[in-house]
Amino acid sequence: MRIGVLGAGQLGRMLALAGYPLAKDFVFYDMSGSPSAGLGEVIIDRDGQYLEDFLSRVDRVTYEFEHLPVDVAEKLAKRTTVHPSPRALQVCQNREAEKTLFGQLGIPTPEWKVADSADSLRAAAEALGCPVVAKSITEGYDGKGQAVLKTPDDADDAWAGIGHPRVIVEKFVNFRREVSIIAVRGEDGDVAFYPIAENTHHEGILRYSIAPAPGLESHVQQDAEKYIKALLNELNYVGVLTLELFETTEGLVANEMAPRVHNSGHWTIEGAMTSQFENHIRAVSGHALGNVQARGLSCMINIIGEHGDIERILELPYAHVHLYNKGERPGRKLGHVNILADSYEELVWRVRNCAQFLPGSPEFKSTLTTKG
Ligand code: AMP
Repeated sequence: MRIGVLGAGQLGRMLALAGYPLAKDFVFYDMSGSPSAGLGEVIIDRDGQYLEDFLSRVDRVTYEFEHLPVDVAEKLAKRTTVHPSPRALQVCQNREAEKTLFGQLGIPTPEWKVADSADSLRAAAEALGCPVVAKSITEGYDGKGQAVLKTPDDADDAWAGIGHPRVIVEKFVNFRREVSIIAVRGEDGDVAFYPIAENTHHEGILRYSIAPAPGLESHVQQDAEKYIKALLNELNYVGVLTLELFETTEGLVANEMAPRVHNSGHWTIEGAMTSQFENHIRAVSGHALGNVQARGLSCMINIIGEHGDIERILELPYAHVHLYNKGERPGRKLGHVNILADSYEELVWRVRNCAQFLPGSPEFKSTLTTKG
């Protein structure tokens, strides 16, 4: 089976690495002009001229990137099987549509409003009560296109800084920690849920994911499963879906979702019985889903901007290194290291030991290292 992947970055690369043992072939379709998957066939098509060519080479289509024109996915869906559906892509591209769907399905979100001018941003900030977070409705990721307003007087600067015609304004959530749940749904409607991961960001970029999230009460995992299941079923979704949430003293609050494999699920490569990548390939190919249980305790450390001393990390008996074959550049995701351990105490020690060889890594902080 030949799987066509829209997008050609490291997520596509890891999908292919998981798909080869199942005898899948991969064709990547790249509209950015800078593919980095580094394997499989790659079609670079900035202007959408080679869609027919792409279609002729694949048996079904999926995504590893969601910021591509929905009409491209819709055109493809008329001609071949596209998983997940273009509707999922459309919802995930638009924070207003996404938060509206969360509300319809009873998934808690921060209180929010929409603003389309500096004045309406100020009015929204006043109505919600500061602090608030303003985010561009479309095209934002890794914290880009966002501003925190400490008072409504920040509205003019925030509006100018974001530079978008429409923003969503959310009440600032005092979260205990950020978490994510990854689930997979097969063509037959079967659903499986990975354990929740605890995620630490620095300068808007994910740095560490610990899974299973330490100290998680079982009802929190159940709530997250209920929310993501509602989304999967509503969207008649096939493949891996990620839901990012804030854990607060009053329970989970949804932030956003991604219609694809996700950086907070990279721990599953060695840390789960079946990785998120293999399960996505299984699902979109119409196969049975694989076991999603954790093999032990894991922490994923992102390699950002510079590679650091990879040779030293390779010497660590508990570290698994994944490199994306990309050039160094500030803020760029170059690879990740998965650390496995039998106890959280051992995990913290191993993560710190590894992170010392990654000069760009912020100090390891998590609920394992701070009280509260
Ligand atoms: P996003 O692009 O929506 O994932 O936001 C990027 C980061 O900004 C999140 O990972 C949070 O750390 C922070 N953030 C976003 N929305 C809120 C919010 N409503 N309250 C508090 N922090 C937020």
